[in-house]
This record gives sequence, structure tokens and C-alpha cells, in this order.
Amino acid sequence: MYDLLVIGGGPAGLSAALNARRRNKRVLLAAKETISSKLRPAGRIENYPGLPGVSGPELAERFREHAVATGVEIRKEDVLNLQRGKDGFFVMGKNESYEAAAVILATGSPQKALLPGETRLAGRGVSYCATCDGMFFRDRDVMVISQLPAGEEEAAFLAGICRKVYYLPEYKGEYNLPPGVELVSGKALRLEGDEQLERVVTTAGEYDLSGVFIERAGLPPEQLCPGLVTVDEAIQVDRRMATNIPGLFAAGDCTGRPWQIAKAVGEGQVAALSAVQYLAEQERANKPG
Ligand SMILES: Cc1cc2nc3c(=O)[nH]c(=O)nc-3n(C[C@H](O)[C@H](O)[C@H](O)COP(=O)(O)OP(=O)(O)OC[C@H]3O[C@@H](n4cnc5c(N)ncnc54)[C@H](O)[C@@H]3O)c2cc1C
Repeated sequence: MYDLLVIGGGPAGLSAALNARRRNKRVLLAAKETISSKLRPAGRIENYPGLPGVSGPELAERFREHAVATGVEIRKEDVLNLQRGKDGFFVMGKNESYEAAAVILATGSPQKALLPGETRLAGRGVSYCATCDGMFFRDRDVMVISQLPAGEEEAAFLAGICRKVYYLPEYKGEYNLPPGVELVSGKALRLEGDEQLERVVTTAGEYDLSGVFIERAGLPPEQLCPGLVTVDEAIQVDRRMATNIPGLFAAGDCTGRPWQIAKAVGEGQVAALSAVQYLAEQERANKPG
């Protein structure tokens, strides 16, 4: 079991992880991407103290090197769900499951509204994990709707199982898709179906499908952790960056504006110190006698 699991590899998560490591805690950082999708396109950053003009990717790499040098274990992992149990948290990722005594959410800016129909059809043709659910759609027609290049891997995986795979990217760039995956240049508008998904309606037309796989930079916080209190889509925290769930802290863009690197780094540090204090309190409470 880890002392602390940090979810998200942006400035807030890396700051939290390295500060907890400096307090000698066993820390795992689970990050969906090697470089935060926010910092990747950030050209020149002029408001981060001491490093005027640094590029987003360079700053991200420096944060990452620093965290690794401190002994933080970083895993490429997409966390799908976390639940609080008696002795800590059970965290389910796409690849593996983890246990940790405390958790810090550093998942970036809150996800806005889901697609109309998405919540109702989740688990009924709507999936967030090709590796987990792909086999249910063997020889069927599916679509991947993705905010991230990582969706290309999902499409490639599904191409080996499904009859037809459509790929609708919600980001700009080169698309590295295997033969047979058809690119859809449009915007997803809604998901339709009564008991099961039947079609995806896009600005490029309607697609009759058995499954849709949605790849986002992050899940809405309350979907990630049922029972978590949010206000205007941001995770509600106190000055210690504690959420309404004991042992669960949050930092960075996911707690609300301003969406800035220095704020994310500062909140990451506060969350780490609060988590360390929480762990010490738990240890004292669990001591016999
Ligand atoms: C183009 C651009 C330019 C910017 N320029 C500036 C600037 O000049 N100055 C400034 O101060 N700020 C700037 N910002 C804002 C800044 O990038 C963000 O405020 C900062 O990155 C927030 O850090 P964070 O760690 O909270 O979130 P993020 O950097 O968004 O990192 C969150 C990470 O968590 C990951 N994640 C989410 N959910 C999960 C999950 N379930 N499992 C695993 N991982 C998950 C995401 O994939 C992401 O990598 C800019 C943003 C953009 C887009």
C-alpha cells in the first residue's frame, strides 16, 4: 500500500508528489500523459517566478525530473474510479488497481458538460476504456471520440476486434491511425438510444453504432469519486486543500480559478503537507493503547 497516491501529472500533481516525498512518504503519481495537455501547447510562460520565457514542455520536464530525482514513482495510468474503504483508498486504473492511505486529486481543469445522453447510456454502449470493454464489441461498429492523441491507441486496439472503427478527434494535429480506422471530421453532438446506444449524432452526420469510447483529458470529479462535493464543476476544498472526504485532497486547476501554474504548484504543496499531517493523525489514532 502507498502512503499517498497523486492523480495527475501536471504542475499541481508533480509539486504535491515531490513535497510528500521530501517528507519521506511512499508516493505514487498516476498520470494519464507524460506531459500535461495544458503545458504541451504553452509556448512562452512569462509569469512563473524565476524562469521568464520558459516553454510549457520545458517547464513540465523540469518539474518531472525534479520529482523523479526526489524518488517519486511515476506510472502512466488513467484512473477511472476511487473509493474510500476502512484503511484507505482503493483506486482503479485502466491498467492496474492500487491502494493508498491518502489521495491527492490534481486532475486539471474541471470537465464541462458531458455529451447529451452520455450519463444515461454509460455502461450501455458508452465506455471510457477500450482495453476493459473492447471485447464486448467484437465484430460490431464503434466510434472513438477523443480529446487526446492517446485515443489513437484506443482506436488501433479496437481495430483488431471490431468490424468498423470511426475516429472523431477533438484536438488538432497529425492523426496516426491504422488502415481501416475512418477519420470523422466533425463535432459530436449527442448520443442516442433507448436501452442501449444506437447512434452518435455529429455535425458530419449520424452513425449507427453499438459502442462509443470516450477519451477525455479527465473525468468529471464526481464521476471519478462518487460523493465528492463540487461547486460550479470545481472540487470544493478548504484552506488545507481537504475535500469533503477524509484523506482525499485536491490541488490545481481542478479546485477552480485562477487556472495558473504558480497557483497549481502552491496548492500541490499545501495538499501534500496536509496529507502528511493526515497520515500522522491516522497513525496515532491506530496505535494500540
Ligand atoms: C495554451 C495554454 C497556455 C497557458 N499559459 C499559461 C501561462 O503562461 N501561465 C500560467 O500560469 N498558466 C498558463 N496556462 C495554464 C496552466 O497550464 C494550468 O493552470 C496548469 O497546467 C494547471 O496545472 P494542473 O496540474 O492543475 O493541471 P494540468 O496541467 O491540466 O494537469 C492535469 C493532468 O492530470 C491528468 N489527469 C486528469 N485526469 C486523470 C485521471 N483520471 N488519471 C490520470 N491522470 C489524469 C491530465 O491528463 C493532465 O495531464 C496555460 C494553459 C494553456 C492551455
